[in-house]
Amino acid sequence: SKKIVIKIGSSTITSKDGVINKKFLDSLASQVKSLIDKGKQVVIVSSGARIAGVSTLCRWSRKEDVNYKQALCAIGQVELMDSYRIIFNKYNVHVAQILLTREDFNDSSRTLNIRNTLFTLLDENVIPIVNENDTVCVEEIKIGDNDMLAAQTTVLWNADLLIILSDINGIYDKSPVEHKDAKLIELVDNIDELEKNISIGRSSSFGTGGISTKLKAARLVNKFDINMIVANGKKDNIIEKLESGEEKGTVFI
Ligand code: ADP
Repeated sequence: SKKIVIKIGSSTITSKDGVINKKFLDSLASQVKSLIDKGKQVVIVSSGARIAGVSTLCRWSRKEDVNYKQALCAIGQVELMDSYRIIFNKYNVHVAQILLTREDFNDSSRTLNIRNTLFTLLDENVIPIVNENDTVCVEEIKIGDNDMLAAQTTVLWNADLLIILSDINGIYDKSPVEHKDAKLIELVDNIDELEKNISIGRSSSFGTGGISTKLKAARLVNKFDINMIVANGKKDNIIEKLESGEEKGTVFI
């Protein structure tokens, strides 16, 4: 694949206490750098703003209040981008911030502008880092989660592959956290069939989407003949290993 969208889940970008996981970001930066060196183009969709906001302020109060949540995202987005900027710069890679809402994908002049900005950044070898613009989104009108934002970005950019990095090796027949004997599903060519045959447990404490939004994202990109992979972001060199076949994750074709 030449054009790759990589989505980073909240539980992957932050450690247990909500602090941004610098070790993970460093490994991501080095993997993205080697993809660029191979002539590939990468767009990152990153979660984690709200959690970073929580750990910045060191308080959890009023966390269900919508405006408070939006404020936490605004605070955390800066922390998040700051970490991306510093760590990617170590590998001589520049990053750019793109904040989007669902409406942006329904408006043709906006999608044209987004596409043009993406193309220009990528021509300059700058990595766009996309996140939802939480300030202008009330909970109900949000894209909902970054799995769908990543899928919409993948389609808009006409990428070849969407890689969703989470804290699990892929999609299992039942929740791997609750069931020790859960089996990894390596290939999905029929999402309706898959949905009938698996059970979906709770998502991780910081995750928002869970498995059902990942299936929704897969449906969208597959409709445009684009493959999607769910894999474990915590494994060393996961992107390279996926490309070489050493690691499989769950592939949606
Ligand atoms: P992210 O923040 O990376 O988007 P989520 O927490 O939203 O991740 O979703 C991943 C979590 O979903 C896993 O950590 C796992 O505990 C849970 N889960 C529930 N059911 C399943 C299943 N059938 N297969 C895989 N993971 C599952």
